Amino acid sequence: MSKQQDELKFLCDLTVVKLGKKLRILGFDTEIIKTVNQQAIKELLKHTNRTLVTKSKELVKACGGILITKNRTSEQLEELLMILNNTNPQLPNTPARCAYCNEVLVDCPKEEVIGKVPIYVFETIEHFKRCPKCGKIYWRGTHVVRHLEFFSSQGKETDTRGDNKW
Ligand SMILES: [Zn+2]
Repeated sequence: MSKQQDELKFLCDLTVVKLGKKLRILGFDTEIIKTVNQQAIKELLKHTNRTLVTKSKELVKACGGILITKNRTSEQLEELLMILNNTNPQLPNTPARCAYCNEVLVDCPKEEVIGKVPIYVFETIEHFKRCPKCGKIYWRGTHVVRHLEFFSSQGKETDTRGDNKW
């Protein structure tokens, strides 16, 4: 794949909705369409430069894109990043996005999250981000950290950027 990862935009269909949300949190611009209707997906792809991500062989045959074969979301993510760049799976150099809106998250002062996050989170986490559209609060989760550890150990370079570790 010749495109730079930070230029890659995805279209996830109904078969990979959870993967789509994870891709957003990791910073990939991702549209999620809750259908596997070939016509609707074709139409959408025509008007965007997004790459289709799906578990449907037929859709990939008809529309092109990336075929996901794994069932667990974490494995799907690994599979996708390996397909994109199998020698050095890297996370994008782009800020995290809201899992629900695909909006780029903005920094959120700690005092603003009082009462909006569980108390143990407030007590243990220092840095928060917020979706400017829906207001949802994000912080670095252990599930994301796990992936980062995975990719750091697989890749040639350890990713030390802080921005996308959410
Ligand atoms: Zn949002």
